[in-house]
Amino acid sequence: MTTNERIQEALLAWYRKHARDLPWRRTRDPYAIWLSEVMLQQTRVDTVIPYFDRFLDELPTVEALADASEEKVISLWSGLGYYRRARMLHEGAKAIAKRPFPKTATALQEVRGIGRYTAGAVASIAFGEPAPLVDGNVARVLARLFGIEDDLRKPKGMERIWSIAGTIVAMEDPGSWNQALMELGATVCTPRAPRCLLCPLSKECKARKSGREQELPVMSAKRPPVLQRRVAIALSADNGDVALVRRAASGIFAGMWEIPSIELANGEAHEAAAQRLGRFIGATCSGMAVRGEVVHVLTHRRLEVTVIGAELTSRALRLSPDRAEYDDVALMSRDEGAVRTKSTYGKKLMKMAFPSKTRGR
Ligand code: SF4
Repeated sequence: MTTNERIQEALLAWYRKHARDLPWRRTRDPYAIWLSEVMLQQTRVDTVIPYFDRFLDELPTVEALADASEEKVISLWSGLGYYRRARMLHEGAKAIAKRPFPKTATALQEVRGIGRYTAGAVASIAFGEPAPLVDGNVARVLARLFGIEDDLRKPKGMERIWSIAGTIVAMEDPGSWNQALMELGATVCTPRAPRCLLCPLSKECKARKSGREQELPVMSAKRPPVLQRRVAIALSADNGDVALVRRAASGIFAGMWEIPSIELANGEAHEAAAQRLGRFIGATCSGMAVRGEVVHVLTHRRLEVTVIGAELTSRALRLSPDRAEYDDVALMSRDEGAVRTKSTYGKKLMKMAFPSKTRGR
């Protein structure tokens, strides 16, 4: 038996015994597997489960997703974050619904929004193609198992891992093999304290044999998120309506409604920025007062937003063409505003701006 065969046998036997019972593991439906893989990117398993179940209840097939409105898709995604994933999934479904579901990793990658990892997952789990996949968990396990010293934050390091993943993928049950690698990384070969005593691969593991399991994989330091200071202006009309803007169709929080905000210029006072923002949305207002600060951290950015409340003195709003970040502005009731605000960031702003009406949503 070769080393690779011993590794495959040990890990698959472990997986059959220890795999967590997760909803997407009870199906071979490529659409459901695709959906789960997209949802699981950058989101924890426990968080994904209810979203996955609800999404499939409402949109059970790729055709149903293709026919759904964007509003419906975003609303089912609301709270999961990284909404670009939902939009790409929706676009991909529209492309796939017109033809038979692509069955190979190569064909899947031709669909816009399906990358190498997702293609490998769907092709291996749904169609049994021995296609590799590498996510953070798999990369860590393989780097430790084979004692890879390359920096996994560099393309060369990741290419090496992809190449190893391609040579070790089990031919007989590649779907279980790929899931077993991910499961081992998620539950045993964890980033900080790998539980080598419980690991089915400890006899083969180079990192374990050389006592380097804590040192591998090599990962150069991440760049800290860039700080962006913003001012948001919570504008209310005399009947209680609030002014919201819609983010443009591409870029951060694309298509989302939220309280208008603007990046502070160097050394600019909050009130001056709020007035500049007011001009951009054609608002005349009075009684500006700071309501508080919202902090929201994204992968590469940390947003610190000072929320200022003010009363509108006119209901006429008009977006300046210079404000490319947004493509619409509207007055609406607070309840409607709370419903239309889907992103976690937008909800935080709403809660700070209008605490009594948005609490608990
Ligand atoms: S022996 Fe330890 S370091 Fe090696 S794969 Fe198993 S858990 Fe990871």
